[in-house]
Amino acid sequence: MADYLICGGTSYVPEDGNTGAQMFASGEGLTYNDFIILPGFIDFTAEEVDLTSALTKKISLKAPLVSSPMDTVTESEMAIAMALCGGIGIIHHNCTPEFQAQEVMKVKKYKHGFIRDPVCLTPHHRVSDVFHVKKSHGFGGIPITEDGKMGSRLLGIITSRDIDFLEPNSDKLLSEEMTPFDDLVTAPAGVSLDKANEILQRSKKGKLPITNEHGELVALIARTDLKKSRNFPNASYDANNQLLVGAAIGTRDSDKQRLELLVNAGVDVVVLDSSQGNSIYQINLIRYIKNTYPELQIVGGNVVTAAQAKNLIDAGVDSLRVGMGSGSICITQEVMAVGRPQATAVYKVAEYARRFGVPVMADGGIGSVGHIIKALALGASTVMMGSLLAGTSEAPGEYFFSNGVRLKKYRGMGSLEAMERKNTQGAAADRYFHGEGDGIKVAQGVSGSIVDKGSILRFLPYLVCGIQHGCQDIGAKSCSMLRSMMYAGELKFEKRTISAQREGNVHSLYSHEKRLY
Ligand code: IMP
Repeated sequence: MADYLICGGTSYVPEDGNTGAQMFASGEGLTYNDFIILPGFIDFTAEEVDLTSALTKKISLKAPLVSSPMDTVTESEMAIAMALCGGIGIIHHNCTPEFQAQEVMKVKKYKHGFIRDPVCLTPHHRVSDVFHVKKSHGFGGIPITEDGKMGSRLLGIITSRDIDFLEPNSDKLLSEEMTPFDDLVTAPAGVSLDKANEILQRSKKGKLPITNEHGELVALIARTDLKKSRNFPNASYDANNQLLVGAAIGTRDSDKQRLELLVNAGVDVVVLDSSQGNSIYQINLIRYIKNTYPELQIVGGNVVTAAQAKNLIDAGVDSLRVGMGSGSICITQEVMAVGRPQATAVYKVAEYARRFGVPVMADGGIGSVGHIIKALALGASTVMMGSLLAGTSEAPGEYFFSNGVRLKKYRGMGSLEAMERKNTQGAAADRYFHGEGDGIKVAQGVSGSIVDKGSILRFLPYLVCGIQHGCQDIGAKSCSMLRSMMYAGELKFEKRTISAQREGNVHSLYSHEKRLY
């Protein structure tokens, strides 16, 4: 007799791989690198994959990407870029409440193509000041207003052409050199970008100041920006067509005043920023926010177990941020002996939270597109990133060189360096200390640097496209399908040994260059 079995046609498919439930049943803590997803069947193009995902109970995003509230990752510039590309940025709170609220406002007020905070000078400034601005900011057309600020009366504009033949150290007054208001082409506040574009083209000018009915400067449009201007069909907008933005706060009493400013600035979602979110302080704050601002969406956390999640869900959170000790700059697990490997944390919390319709944000430890796909496949609806987005031109901070490499600073909010900034400006330490005073700080993070990654506006489309291709290989036509395949046991995983992980990476080469997009 033959020692193999002949089955009827091709209907027989052997069991292969493990379901999510099987993979996490062993009790071992797994990281994203410890497993791989088995491929499925493709009957659609990658472009067709729909990445729409829930950020909170009431807010959904076209791209499941969130930038972390860290002072080297998210201020208004990053948040604007994230929202334009379909994700959202969470403004950090290691700054004064006023500064944070202003950053939120900049995102809410942002209109593609309109510069809302141009550098302005007064008629009493000198030609040398213009050269100085040009050198430090790289542009020439500067509005001249009564008090040198946005929002005051526009008196003229000074362009490169006005000062071309003057010495950079000339002390001539701008009142003598500027093109006066009466000779300017301006547009009224409320003008559409298309109309402004038309006016600029007709006038052949480089800058178009936008003024209100009192002649005060409210925005500026630059011809060069218009030329660069692209469409962002997936941008994250609220009901008023303003970009979505989030902000982080701590759980101290003083955070209630901070929150009031943020709400007045138009924040859409608030992230309660605690490394261990299962605390009486956070629960009380959730209740307070739900009573005071019932429309405001709350992301609670961080949590890594179902038991922690339960308390925050019971208190009323609209989303959970998951991760403890997995961040690239994080030493929490080493110092506090507490935390959880990230893949397990995401799976366990998401599996519990979905019963209550609470979406999960996988926070920390995302080092590649593959990690994003794995987080989503384990039940997360969105991923939050720090290191992957730091080092881009939209991240706060200046570039510097070290051994010929262009770098930007990236630091943990629990690093001593970030917590020390608190004394003068902000609240980084509040994330790590619950209710204590300003005693000895135990660092939970480090401070380092990240290589220049260029603009986030090029990097995010790469991430989006990469996620779509991963979903296509898996056979999931959308993020929600990916999750339902996992919970139905159709999505199969396999753990990877150390050598399997080595095999799955570049190997056996003398040298190689890794260019990603
Ligand atoms: P990354 O994307 O791996 O760089 O991780 C970013 C995440 O690390 C953030 O969103 C925070 O949840 C977390 N994090 C930020 N600062 C610290 C810190 O100082 N210690 C521990 N975790 C941190």
